[in-house]
Amino acid sequence: MDKEAETFLDLIDNARRITVLTGAGMSTESGIPDFRSAGGLWTEDMSRMEAMSRDYFERYPKLFWPKFKALFQMKMTGSFQPNAGHLYLAELEKRGKDVRVFTQNIDGLHVKAGSRHVYELHGSIQTARCPKCGAGYGLEHLLREEVPRCSRINQKGEACGFILKTDVVLFGDPVQHFDTLFDILADSDLLLVIGTSLEVAPVRFVPEEAHLIPGLKKAMINLEKTPYDHLFDVVIHRKIAEFTKEISG
Ligand code: NAD
Repeated sequence: MDKEAETFLDLIDNARRITVLTGAGMSTESGIPDFRSAGGLWTEDMSRMEAMSRDYFERYPKLFWPKFKALFQMKMTGSFQPNAGHLYLAELEKRGKDVRVFTQNIDGLHVKAGSRHVYELHGSIQTARCPKCGAGYGLEHLLREEVPRCSRINQKGEACGFILKTDVVLFGDPVQHFDTLFDILADSDLLLVIGTSLEVAPVRFVPEEAHLIPGLKKAMINLEKTPYDHLFDVVIHRKIAEFTKEISG
């Protein structure tokens, strides 16, 4: 085991309350592409980013849904499985650590892995709701039609029929649970940042804010360098599942 891995394990061993911040890199080894790596989802076509905005959805809801479903491989959603990285975090909890996972991912894999305290900052791909009557729907309903609509029956005995809005946070929507992240971070022993380029606001502000918290240790696992590496006690530039398997075994 190299020096960085030993430092990482020391930080984990000495922490009781661990705040984890994860991004798309967490799930690439489960077969879900990230956004900004080579071959990632954004690199091919920047107009995709515009199509994933609240503004685009509100103007062209019928065009939004097929693009959204294709981009996030929605049909495959149920078949993706957690990898060793997700399982490592769930295991830390079983070993008695107080682990709070804040994820930018929408894939639901932390919950599937068994983590009990998961905050989905960017929402979930598995659910959507009716902007008109508020009725909520699950994945099965969303996959049934190319453009999912509200099927609730109104007082006139007719289906509402409004096009649903995904529970994924679109560009232009507010990020969720962000205040909770800082409340919990202030009481934590360790911040663990995993698989995020830290390019998306407001999450990219977390390392600098964390740096101001006295006594808080900081560790990162990410394949590529980020603009905030210098603020961390240890940075592991390796694949998450590979690295966590190695330190667990
Ligand atoms: P990002 O694509 O900007 O960055 C991912 C980072 O992970 C990169 O720096 C890359 O080097 C690193 N990485 C990739 N595979 C890795 C691996 N196996 N091991 C270690 N590091 C690895 O992702 P982001 O910072 O999360 O921001 C992008 C946005 O993407 C978020 O808003 C998120 O909602 C959305 N997104 C989510 C999913 C998902 O739910 N799985 C997938 C794609 C995009």
